[in-house]
This record gives sequence, structure tokens and C-alpha cells, in this order.
Amino acid sequence: MVLEISQAISPLPASVDIWQKTMGWQPTPSQLNQFQQLYGLILAGNRHMNLTRITEPTEFWEKHLWDSIRPLGFALSSSQPQDCPLKPWPANQPLRGLDIGTGGGFPGLPVAFALKPLYPQLQLTLLDSTQKKVLFLEEAIATLNLPYIQAHVGRAEQIHHQPDYTQHYDFCLIRAVAKAPICLQYALPFLKPGGLVILYRGRWSLEEEKILKQTLRSLGGRLTWIDAFVTPLSQATRHCLYVCKQ
Ligand code: SAM
Repeated sequence: MVLEISQAISPLPASVDIWQKTMGWQPTPSQLNQFQQLYGLILAGNRHMNLTRITEPTEFWEKHLWDSIRPLGFALSSSQPQDCPLKPWPANQPLRGLDIGTGGGFPGLPVAFALKPLYPQLQLTLLDSTQKKVLFLEEAIATLNLPYIQAHVGRAEQIHHQPDYTQHYDFCLIRAVAKAPICLQYALPFLKPGGLVILYRGRWSLEEEKILKQTLRSLGGRLTWIDAFVTPLSQATRHCLYVCKQ
């Protein structure tokens, strides 16, 4: 696949104030440039396959960039809500992340752009069961020159048993892949003890929480925090669940 990036891509909203106000972190000009390049690549990839229906610049900014990065606020910003029990990772140690069911690279790619300057030893794996999406990701990684990111094709529930992957990661991201208990079944075996699943959800109910806690007993995970917030432009409800592997 040859990704031809059109010269006439609309600019994404570039205000850094909104990042600062909503999560206490600001992208640098070089990170804003990475966001814009990623946007161009996604639009180019969409001509070959269905990567995302979210293509309008403002919606892309909110649903693919802001939405991806906001749950990593605890690792990016020193000003966190008082009830946040999570601590940033040590900055100068190896940090391995995995994005399960990444599709067009979300939330993994924006998260990697945001984390990399603070965590220079970050390595990220993008995992998806659809080969053509992984071919797109490999091309995007090469075009954007991201040697610390690898894309891998496979199903989480098969790959997590392989010795190179079991208990290998410090964190797993998982958005829009399956129901919450299934997501945790996929993610927890990949993590080292003490590793963190960051589970992206929209609405969330007490009933779902009860079922999740029952599942967690057999999986060896502890629900550490549920962060509820709204998106800054469309005021949509979001919940982020943080589950620690025990
Ligand atoms: N996470 C991306 C996002 O939020 O934009 C993509 C979400 S898309 C709805 C779900 C993706 O998960 C698809 O690309 C699909 O191929 C992948 N997927 C579904 N089940 C999977 C599994 N068991 N292992 C790996 N990938 C899976």
C-alpha cells in the first residue's frame, strides 16, 4: 500500500490552552506536527480501507487525539485530581506499552507521541487482528520515523499466551474492542505484576462495575480507579477504568 498524503489537509485545532485547561499538559510544536501528520496518514489510509469514520478535523481532534491522551494525564501532568491514586512511571527506566485492538492506531499512536519526550525509553506495540490495518500501521510507523513502535497482527487471546508477550508490558491500552470483562481477560496476561490496564469506556454503570469486580477476582486484577469526565467540545461522557495486575 502506498499512502499518498494530500497536500490540502485541513489543519487540526491547534490551541494548546484547551489541553492545559482539561488535563494540565501541553503539546509542543513538534507534537502538534506529529498529530497533523497522523491525521494526513489516516485520511490517506481511509482511501484504501475503513480505518475510521471520524475524519472531520475538530471531531478527529476530540475523539482520536484528546480522547486517546486524556487518560494518561496521571503520567504527563503534575496537577491531577485529588482522588487520583496513580503515580507517574519512573522517567528514566524502560517502559513497555501495548495497544490491544488498535485499529488505525488509537489510542496508541497519540499516547506514544505524548509520552515519548517524558519517557525516552518507551517502546509501544500496536496489536490488531486485521492484517490490512497492521500493514497500514507499519507504513505509518515508517513514514513518521517511529522506531520505538512496532505493529503486530494477531488476536489478543492467542498472543497473550506466547512467551515473548506474557507478563511483558508495564501498561495496556484498550478502547472500543469488547465488553469490559473480555477486555480485561485479553489485557491482564500481557502485564507484568503491578502493570496497569487503561480501559477506555463511554458510559459506565454500577451494574457493569459489579460484574467487572466479580470477573477481576478470578483474573488477578484490582480496580484501582474510575475516572469520569466529559469531552471538551461535544461534552460527551467518558469513563476511564484503571486496573492493576496483582
Ligand atoms: N481501538 C481503536 C479505536 O478506538 O479507534 C479501534 C477500535 S475498532 C472498533 C476494534 C478493533 O479491534 C478492530 O480493528 C479489530 O480488528 C480489533 N480487534 C477485535 N478483536 C480483537 C482481538 N481479539 N485481538 C486483537 N484485535 C482485535
